[in-house]
Amino acid sequence: MGHKRYHIKSACPQCGCSFAQVLSKEEIKERYGDTPNIELECGECMLKFETDRKSACPEWDDECRLKEGEA
Ligand SMILES: [Zn+2]
Repeated sequence: MGHKRYHIKSACPQCGCSFAQVLSKEEIKERYGDTPNIELECGECMLKFETDRKSACPEWDDECRLKEGEA
């Protein structure tokens, strides 16, 4: 069993700079829990903004759906 890495991509609504992060499932759970929206902080203008988890990380959403299917 490997440790899958998830790519989270978004863009700051204020300055438009792109934002990318690679996190493990554990890191995501620790930071964002199970909420449908995740909070990100722009590295350029320090704006905190929320983004839809589905659009920020489609592969993560797929994984969640698979989990639900197993339950
Ligand atoms: Zn920004």
